[in-house]
Amino acid sequence: SSFMELHLSRPLLRACEALKYTKPTPIQAACIPLALTGRDICASAITGSGKTAAFALPTLERLLFRPKNRPAIRVLVLTPTRELAVQVHSMIEQLAQFVKDIRCCLVVGGLSTKTQEAALRSVPDIVVATPGRMIDHLRNSMSVDLDDLAVLILDEADRLLELGFSAEIRELVRLCSKRRQTMLFSATMTEQVDELIKLSLKKPLRLSA
Ligand code: AMP
Repeated sequence: SSFMELHLSRPLLRACEALKYTKPTPIQAACIPLALTGRDICASAITGSGKTAAFALPTLERLLFRPKNRPAIRVLVLTPTRELAVQVHSMIEQLAQFVKDIRCCLVVGGLSTKTQEAALRSVPDIVVATPGRMIDHLRNSMSVDLDDLAVLILDEADRLLELGFSAEIRELVRLCSKRRQTMLFSATMTEQVDELIKLSLKKPLRLSA
């Protein structure tokens, strides 16, 4: 199969080509068509499987058709660590390189809060964040909200929970628009991950690759 058969728009196909992705990995082939339907998804997938593009490509495809009259954070990606957030942010920027006017912002500990605050106030389309830092901004700034969020992504959910972010994630999920699509990725499906799935996903389709 090819990326062309997955019904992605031209700018995204060009990015795959530029990155030398010749064919979708199994998780991408399974996830992308389902994600494009708007259903919630939970997937067992490890690092190296191509999971980042599996959630980023359909998410970017949806953003191509977002309403442009009112700026809003449309996508929130939560990752367990700063390092993973940096990688995911960079991957999204590469996949979005031919899409006009998409802004992706990184919100993690260790970077200046003031700079991030300014970036969030300018309302990026996509935020890649670690939970603690994102909560801080939502609590402290009246002008940052997730009321128009279209897609929530929980990346490496098992590690998010192992690292003790359970309470933060629950709070963040409550602050997200109820009309959102949610995608959860996890290397392992533990009891705790199952609880998080029940709490944050609606009738999810289950995938593994
Ligand atoms: P990930 O599992 O998302 O961390 O991705 C692992 C690596 O695979 C990254 O370096 C990606 O750039 C690369 N990658 C993702 N999708 C593909 C693909 N379809 N073909 C070749 N490489 C890919």
